[in-house]
Amino acid sequence: MGCDDMLTPHRDDVELTSPLQLPQLPNDAVWDGSIAYLDRDGVIIEGSENYVNTVDEVVLLPDSAKSVGDLRRAGYRICIVTNQSPINRGLWSSSNLSMIHDRMRQLLLRDDGDAHLDLILHSPYAPWEGAWARKPFPGMLEAGRQLIDSASSDTSLKNMNLKFGDDWSDRPDESNSVMVGDRGVDMSAAARFGVVGFLCDPDTGISSVMDSILGDSY
Ligand SMILES: [Mg+2]
Repeated sequence: MGCDDMLTPHRDDVELTSPLQLPQLPNDAVWDGSIAYLDRDGVIIEGSENYVNTVDEVVLLPDSAKSVGDLRRAGYRICIVTNQSPINRGLWSSSNLSMIHDRMRQLLLRDDGDAHLDLILHSPYAPWEGAWARKPFPGMLEAGRQLIDSASSDTSLKNMNLKFGDDWSDRPDESNSVMVGDRGVDMSAAARFGVVGFLCDPDTGISSVMDSILGDSY
C-alpha cells in the first residue's frame, strides 16, 4: 500500500511530510527509539460520546500531564494517534481540531514543563471510508514511527516516502514502545502494528496504567 493510493493520516495545519521539529528530550537524553503512541480522548483529555467539539471542552484527565512528562523523562517520544471522524462527517473543520490541539498542548505544558507532544496524527475519515489510517487499523502508528524516525535525523523530512501495510517490510523493532488507549479499537491497532497495548480507564486516563508501563519503581 503506497502513500498515494490510500487515505493517509493527517497532521494539524501542515502536510503529512512537512518539516517536523522534535523537542529535546528531558535532560538532553539521547533517544533510544522508544515511542509512546497515545490515544487522545479518555487517555489525555476527557472524552465525550458527542466528541470534543470546541476548545472550551478540552479538559485534562488527572495527572495526564505528569504522565506524559514521566514518559518523556523515561526516554519515550510521544505520538498522539486519534480518530477524528467529525471532520469527514462534516461537523467541523480541521482548523477547529488544530485549535483544540493547541489548547491541549498548552494545558499539558502548563502542568508539566516536560509534557511535550512530539507529533499529533489524526484520522479525519468516517468509519464507512474504510481508511487504513483509522483505528482499529494501524496506519497512524505506521506513519508516526516513520515520521519520528526520519525527523530525528533530518527535520526537513525531505524525500520522505511513507510506507503502509504489506508494502513496509523493513520495520524497526517496537519492543520498547507502547500504545495506550481506552477502547478496543486502540488495542486492535496496537496488536496489528506489533506494539504492546495498555488499556486504561477512560475516567482516569493514562495515569492509571503508568505503573504497568514504567514498572514497580514508578
Ligand atoms: Mg479514546
